[in-house]
Formats: sequence, structure tokens, C-alpha cells
Amino acid sequence: MNLSEDYHVHSTFNDHSASDLTIENVVKQAGNLNLVTIAFTEHVRTSSTWIGEYLQEIATISKKAAIRIIAGFEAKILADGSIDCPDFYAENYFIVASFHTLYHKKDIWLNALEKVIQNPSVDVIGHIAPEPSFQLEAAEVEKLGALICEHDKVVEINAKYHRPPAHWIKTFVQEGVKMHLGSDAHRLNEVGMFSNVMDLISLVKKRRI
Ligand SMILES: [Zn+2]
Ligand SMILES: [Zn+2]
Repeated sequence: MNLSEDYHVHSTFNDHSASDLTIENVVKQAGNLNLVTIAFTEHVRTSSTWIGEYLQEIATISKKAAIRIIAGFEAKILADGSIDCPDFYAENYFIVASFHTLYHKKDIWLNALEKVIQNPSVDVIGHIAPEPSFQLEAAEVEKLGALICEHDKVVEINAKYHRPPAHWIKTFVQEGVKMHLGSDAHRLNEVGMFSNVMDLISLVKKRRI
């Protein structure tokens, strides 16, 4: 877990981020903050038409940047456990898979999550937490952690949503689950900002010393 790496940043390629969140501005801001790694993870759908332009812009700016820049996408987890992302991009780019819809039933949610964890195209499970209508038993969290380890996925600690829950993180740390940070920035001043998840970060750091 490295505070100078931000693995979840949006850009002006979606329609709900601030107009200052251009790829160029994000890279400049990351440099100003002495970040060493930034991952662009724009919201994608199988129907997205801007992907080529987005990747081209990241590639152009990456060539002259002094920091490591990762091109990727945040893909929605669908009820059947697939992700809403064209296969080619899922297979060849960094993929954060996240729930963006309430499924209201724990069995549907768990089944979808287990399939996503087993999907070789997925790199990271984004802002993971139970839905408001259900909780997971301790044994269910342990089982998830074991599956995440088995399939070598990373669990994101998301600054925007303050997730996952602390007791999940404790279990994941005990099981050796890899975790990293994502600001989920939708405006420029949110890039690399993890001050509101220092409590969650300390759970990871404390237990690794
Ligand atoms: Zn998200
Ligand atoms: Zn996001």
C-alpha cells in the first residue's frame, strides 16, 4: 500500500467529472503531488464510443510524463457476473470491476462477485462493500478473501466511498489479500487524496509491521 500511487482516477471522458479533470491536468497534478503512479480508470460500457481517443490521449501524454501512467477502465459488474466492457479492452488494459447497481439480494450479489474475481481480465475489485440491505457473515468474508488471493486480484481502498468496511480489511490482511489505494477522483483536487481513509490505511499498515 503506497500513498504515492493512485489506481482509480476519472477524466473528462465521462460526462459527470469536473471540466478541469483532463488527462493532461491529472498528470500535472500527480507530478505536483509527487505521485509515482496514476491509473486512469474511466467508466466504460460495451457501447462506449470514446475509447480510442481516450487511450490515444493517455499514450501521447504518457510519453513525456515523468511518472508511471496506467491506462485502464472501471467496468460495472452485471447481475450475471460479467462486466460491462468490450472484451478486447478488458483483456488488454487495467480493469477495476465495481458494483454500480444495487441487486438487493445477497445471493445474486455474491454470485456476481465470485464470477468477477475469477475473471482473468479483471485486475482490481473496486469500492467493495455489502449493499445496505444485507451483511456478510465472517465466514463469507473469509471465503471471498481466499478466492481473491487464489485469483491474484487486488482489493481497492476507495477514498470517495470510504470502503471496504474495516472488519473486511482486517480479514483480508490476515489472509494476505493485496490492497491498493484509489481516490476515485472526479475533480482535479481529489487526485491522490487519501486523507479521509487514513483509518482504513492504518489497518493495513499496522498489521503488516
Ligand atoms: Zn465506481
Ligand atoms: Zn470510479
